[in-house]
Amino acid sequence: MASSDDPRHGLAVCEECESVQPVEVDPSGEIRTVGNPSCRCGSNEFRLLEG
Ligand SMILES: [Zn+2]
Repeated sequence: MASSDDPRHGLAVCEECESVQPVEVDPSGEIRTVGNPSCRCGSNEFRLLEG
């Protein structure tokens, strides 16, 4: 059973280089790339892909 407090996994696109990455989304809405502190281009601005 997944708690609603757990990070959700999804996909997001980098705002800088537009690469699609697997991400975790915190309950607070913060998006983090999985396994890396930021995108390989150095940006940490992501737009979550819905669905
Ligand atoms: Zn990037």
